[in-house]
Amino acid sequence: MNSIFLQTPIDYLKGVGPNRADLLKKELDIFTYQDLLNLFPNRYLDRTKYYKIHELQKTNAEVQLIGKITHLKTVQQKRGKRLVATFQDETGKIELVWFRGHKWIQENLKINVPYVVFGKINWFNGIFSMPHPDMELLETHEKKLRSAMQPIYPSTEKLSSKGISNRVLHKLVETLFLEVQAKFAETLPNYILQQYKLLSKSEALFNIHFPKNQELLSAAQYRLKLEELFYIQLQLIRKNLVHKSKIKGYPFSKIGNYFNTFYKNHLPFELTQAQKRVIKEIRKDLGSKAQMNRLLQGDVGSGKTIVALLSMLIALDNGFQACLMAPTEILSVQHYNGLVELCNNLNISISLLTGSTKTSSRREIHKNLKNGSLQILIGTHALLEDVVQFKNLGLAIIDEQHRFGVAQRAKLWKKNTFPPHILVMTATPIPRTLAMSVYGDLDISIIDELPPGRKTVKTVHRFDSNRLKVFRFLKNEIAKGRQVYIVYPLIQESEALDYKDLMDGYESISREFPLPNYQISIVHGKMKPADKEFEMNRFKKGETQIMVATTVIEVGVNIPNASVMVIESAERFGLSQLHQLRGRVGRGADQSYCILMTGHKLSGDAKIRLETMVRTSDGFEIAEVDLKLRGPGDIMGTKQSGVLNLRIADIVKDHEILKLARSLAFSVLKNDPQLSKPENIPVKQTFLQLTKYKNIWNYIS
Ligand code: ADP
Ligand code: MG
Repeated sequence: MNSIFLQTPIDYLKGVGPNRADLLKKELDIFTYQDLLNLFPNRYLDRTKYYKIHELQKTNAEVQLIGKITHLKTVQQKRGKRLVATFQDETGKIELVWFRGHKWIQENLKINVPYVVFGKINWFNGIFSMPHPDMELLETHEKKLRSAMQPIYPSTEKLSSKGISNRVLHKLVETLFLEVQAKFAETLPNYILQQYKLLSKSEALFNIHFPKNQELLSAAQYRLKLEELFYIQLQLIRKNLVHKSKIKGYPFSKIGNYFNTFYKNHLPFELTQAQKRVIKEIRKDLGSKAQMNRLLQGDVGSGKTIVALLSMLIALDNGFQACLMAPTEILSVQHYNGLVELCNNLNISISLLTGSTKTSSRREIHKNLKNGSLQILIGTHALLEDVVQFKNLGLAIIDEQHRFGVAQRAKLWKKNTFPPHILVMTATPIPRTLAMSVYGDLDISIIDELPPGRKTVKTVHRFDSNRLKVFRFLKNEIAKGRQVYIVYPLIQESEALDYKDLMDGYESISREFPLPNYQISIVHGKMKPADKEFEMNRFKKGETQIMVATTVIEVGVNIPNASVMVIESAERFGLSQLHQLRGRVGRGADQSYCILMTGHKLSGDAKIRLETMVRTSDGFEIAEVDLKLRGPGDIMGTKQSGVLNLRIADIVKDHEILKLARSLAFSVLKNDPQLSKPENIPVKQTFLQLTKYKNIWNYIS
């Protein structure tokens, strides 16, 4: 059946009048035959078995029986009436019960004629009953295009109240199948079907709606999931390839003085293998004629900064400017100070631009950016303002990416004739499956190795009732010359309360750690940037031993002598936040500790989060757990979750299928970039159709 036919408006299907068409469109987004065909059931009721009445158990399960109605009576009850039918087979009897719709049922029910009934069984007053059964004459039942596994379609309150029940939906699908005679164009190439022993498209669609048995159902699901993921991957990979062929970047053809001098003489440490590999990947991108669009993932402390610097030096070597944008003022300042120090001997001009940069220096920066004498600009969102004009921005690096929206990223593009190369760095590892789905069009580099000599942070979970012991431990560590973070949650919705908690906490800590023996810093979001910085600096210089803070210190702050992280109300933090916070310690030579404080009442998820933190410090493993707990939509934020709006596949559960889909998409495009080979005709057609009829791909920006 050709695809044009499947684009027929749903209004034309037999059994769908204007009212139903409206409802289907509004409630289920079903506009065409195709949409209905792709309404995949959520679950299936196993109707392979017909029970005998004497086999019934008091389990409340849904069962299917064959028998006859022998009596029908109306029973008066407190409110209204109920209609009761005695239903029996050769082994016993039960009652069928209706609380509404009596008239219609009384007029249509046939006495002493075999029926198939299906429904939940109740045990009441010494007899089984089945309220509002699904029922059908045995004769019709046997004739129908049907399956033993009854599909349950996604539905809405409104649909069922307006009479579009599951049964009606199934019936519509059946009508559609009869109309097209169950023949559907194949959408995957033959060689793939054969190699992976997949059901044909027609078989798969048939068995997803009318499965004959569990085996066929599962084969149908497998085939349709693979297909769904395959086309998403095909799109993403193609986008990446098109991007590379169409979007020109500045080719940084040479590695020059800046890079070489730094690499040979000023590298403060030996790079890890992972850092070397990633730098190679970036060099290759920068040297090509295409614009780089690369995501650099690396756990906290894996050493992304040096990679960023080396990449910027390549830009400078080729006569271009570079910028590095971070999500907070504190981080920008830290990057700035760190980079200035690293570039000490290189004679490079670097500036910092944030919201609190004074007007006079701001003007200076604007001027020098424009005339090109300023080579590296570091800062916050302030970099995105229209007045910030580069002479020739060649590379833009964005640290801690998921705090910046896609739109903001795009803004950097508009600053040039050619878009600058883009390197996005993120410290929150994204599970590979998610990365493949959401960032499948970006190139991804991973630093999966920590610099040598790092000790794992010892992590424990302690209840609030053990606080005194924890304080004693902190005193011991401070006596050894270490510093301590104590972090409080700050969630926007309960900001006032959280703020109070922070202040109460600060007070009790001040009492426990009194002056003059102890000095305490406090940093939170309500403070002026200058005050924050002042306090951070005191802590950094070791003038204070304890830093009480909200999550403003979450990202990137680097103070190697701080070796203890106490997280208050740890149950309220998400996994990735906990992991980020823990990453603040373990940066120096000393053994570091992370203490997760909670009350005794913990939800199941909270327990899993805490156990995970205690068990592992592998960011990727933590990210996998997070994905399972929260689901992909929550992790990526609603904006991007469109990509994850899958019909049948589930990127968490169908991990293996996703990997296969991606590798198949790669190899198809590699062997046949234009999809012009005869064996790929189905791919080309499906691909064109997907992009033509439903622009479901647009959300991938
Ligand atoms: P992140 O990936 O979290 O941004 P940083 O770049 O801040 O990590 O690096 C964390 C710390 O590790 C810094 O103090 C940095 O100097 C140090 N570091 C980075 N790479 C190495 C290395 N190869 N060997 C030793 N120390 C390193
Ligand atoms: Mg960093």
